[in-house]
Amino acid sequence: MTYSQNWNIDRVFPGLDSKELESAFQAAEGENPSLAAELAALSETSSNQAILAAADSLQTAEGKLHTIGFYLNAWSSVNYGKSEIGPKFDRLSKIEIDYTVQEQKWGKFLAALSDTRFKELLADDKAKPIVFILNESREKAAKLLDDQTEKLINEFQVDALHAWSAHYDTISAGLKTSYTDADGKIQEVSAGQALNLLDGIKDKDARADLMKNYEKMWGKAENLSADTLNHLAGARLTDYKAHGISDFLEKPLELNRLSKASLTAMWDAVAKNEGMLVKFFARKAKLLGLDSDQISWQDQTAPVQVPGYQPRTLTYDQAANFIIDNFSKYSPKMGAFAKHAFENQWIESEDRPGKQPGGWDESIPALKEDRIFLTFTGSVNDAATIAHELGHAFHSHNLYDLPQWRQNYAMNVAETASTFAETIINTANVEAAQSDAEKITLLDAKMSNATAMFMNIRARFIFESNFYKERQKGVLTPAQLNQLMVAAQKEAFAGALSDQGVHPHFWTSKLHFYIDDVPFYNFPYTFGYLFSLGIFAWAQKQQDFETAYIALLRDTANMSSEELAKKHLGVDLTQPDFWQAGADLIKKDVDEFLDLTENL
Ligand SMILES: [Zn+2]
Repeated sequence: MTYSQNWNIDRVFPGLDSKELESAFQAAEGENPSLAAELAALSETSSNQAILAAADSLQTAEGKLHTIGFYLNAWSSVNYGKSEIGPKFDRLSKIEIDYTVQEQKWGKFLAALSDTRFKELLADDKAKPIVFILNESREKAAKLLDDQTEKLINEFQVDALHAWSAHYDTISAGLKTSYTDADGKIQEVSAGQALNLLDGIKDKDARADLMKNYEKMWGKAENLSADTLNHLAGARLTDYKAHGISDFLEKPLELNRLSKASLTAMWDAVAKNEGMLVKFFARKAKLLGLDSDQISWQDQTAPVQVPGYQPRTLTYDQAANFIIDNFSKYSPKMGAFAKHAFENQWIESEDRPGKQPGGWDESIPALKEDRIFLTFTGSVNDAATIAHELGHAFHSHNLYDLPQWRQNYAMNVAETASTFAETIINTANVEAAQSDAEKITLLDAKMSNATAMFMNIRARFIFESNFYKERQKGVLTPAQLNQLMVAAQKEAFAGALSDQGVHPHFWTSKLHFYIDDVPFYNFPYTFGYLFSLGIFAWAQKQQDFETAYIALLRDTANMSSEELAKKHLGVDLTQPDFWQAGADLIKKDVDEFLDLTENL
């Protein structure tokens, strides 16, 4: 069988200018006024049936918006940079903002119900699948201020929080730098290109030269960036204060349905296990030909090269069959699902011009199917990327029969199924390696996930926590932000990073600090990674892993992270053991890497 490398999205809409897409837009636009009318008619004395019908209407409307959003994303990913998509995205985001207003009204309606009436509603059989969501919406809405004030805050945030976030794009879009490549030629690059290059330049001097100029380039933007970061955080803190929130971690934790005790336990375990990664980096520094046993910022993900080794390449069919076979070893359903996705053109993987970089998976509520976007160049790592996205798709696939709100899992568990699937393939790849040299290269690539989650992301979390602590007292100067960042990197890298190798302006170069919708866009990554490693460790001991795993996935938007772990894995996230089990898996890889490279 030869699998197609092009996806089929015409079944969603036949084109950007199709009358089908236009009528979907019109239907979605008409949905909000009718939702508003339906919600306005609700009161304490409404029947359960009427209240739950409104919940259904909201979820149906949400599903329709996701379907349109999917199509616009898919279209723009294969028509990268084409401007005719702009007005369509704009039209969709206006409808989405309107929808959010209806959702807030819904929450306020629930909050206004008496406790007795709310309990009666929850006891209704038809409410059972969404009891957790109903409770959560009611609790959140109870913290909202009156309609007029909420509206005013949201309107002001357009020119505050959201404006500062957009301003960051304006700053970074104008930046350019250069470096001297391995052939001695000077290359001019944009900020985005420089970042991509830093991940993969093989020549250590070219890499160091680019990093020096990259740090300098961001240094020139430090005043504008410091204004932006200070005011973005200020707008957020003012919003928190208005809502009676005094702890800047409260919202980020709430968004991830996670307790502070679990977050602390996770970071404590990470900190305790950093020694093994320091050893890994010391060996890596040697293999990269660096002068000391410490790395510099730009060396974190630089690929280790073994003399004489040429990386193995795969055909697309080989990659597909490798994934299907290895998924099947853990779960026949997962294997069959992957096969179905390959056979039915769910994956756009062709290597051709005009495609967006990167990869993603998105669900299409209208079809109850997913589509995956990426570019397959034949590397073993590309196979792991397909597996990662198929993991996301398998997660959605197991939720499609549930109400839409039961499919809205938080960011920290969003990467569970994907990282788990990727771990299956990464592990199988290492086991299938045909030489030590190949094994070293694969382990090195696999380790870049671990070091990113334990050190790079942890540095971001430490910085952001300390920054918010200080920002509550007043604005910080660029010099103070540099200092906080250097201190965070030293702490998180625990000696793996040399004194000259730090990246003081990381607070300005990293987009994640400037995202408006999600505060603390860092710890959910580490959580998702370690949570999936915990599941991988647990999977090895299960009699019927498949059933247990699917049951866990189906509950990802149905309870707190702690309850999810307790109910399905029997573990307590506030205790160190679970996190340690994940770290122990990484240690196995580190030990193997150190063994294999001992005499290189
Ligand atoms: Zn992912």
